[in-house]
Amino acid sequence: MSACRWAAGDLRSEARGIARLVVNALIHQYLIPGVQVGAKVQVGSGGVVTDVFSVVRPVAPGFGCLWCNELISPARLQEEALTAEQLRQQRYVQDETVHAPSVISLNAVASADAVDDYLHTVAGLLPTAYEPRWRRFHPLVPTAPQRVRCDVPRAAADCTECSETGRLGQGRNTALPTK
Ligand SMILES: [Zn+2]
Repeated sequence: MSACRWAAGDLRSEARGIARLVVNALIHQYLIPGVQVGAKVQVGSGGVVTDVFSVVRPVAPGFGCLWCNELISPARLQEEALTAEQLRQQRYVQDETVHAPSVISLNAVASADAVDDYLHTVAGLLPTAYEPRWRRFHPLVPTAPQRVRCDVPRAAADCTECSETGRLGQGRNTALPTK
């Protein structure tokens, strides 16, 4: 673990909640910057696509905790021997007739942006005034300025995962949330 310098990824499996919990813990406990990327196609009633987006969420000690921002559901962690209904809700497209929809290009947009961040960081090319943001890419929005949306993630002062009273910087002094 001490050789790891950057963590990236997300899972679409039935264990997504646990995977996010463990990666978020690794980042804060061992002070390893990382990034979470993903994509989603939202479908409303009648099968109408209401939104398509991909996301890039830099996660690092002091910035972007997945727990603080409710991207890890405690209820889901408790239930992660998933029921068929939960599996259905995790699908990229909420339509039983759509099997394995391709979101490769959406994930590629998010992944490319994450790699850019990483390369600019290690090469020292970030502007001195650079402030990280979580970014969402909405390719179907007709006007360009709204296609990329930026957010500053929340941070709870008493978070068990990212605060100094919690897991932050504990390294081998505390156990990871694994079995
Ligand atoms: Zn937190």
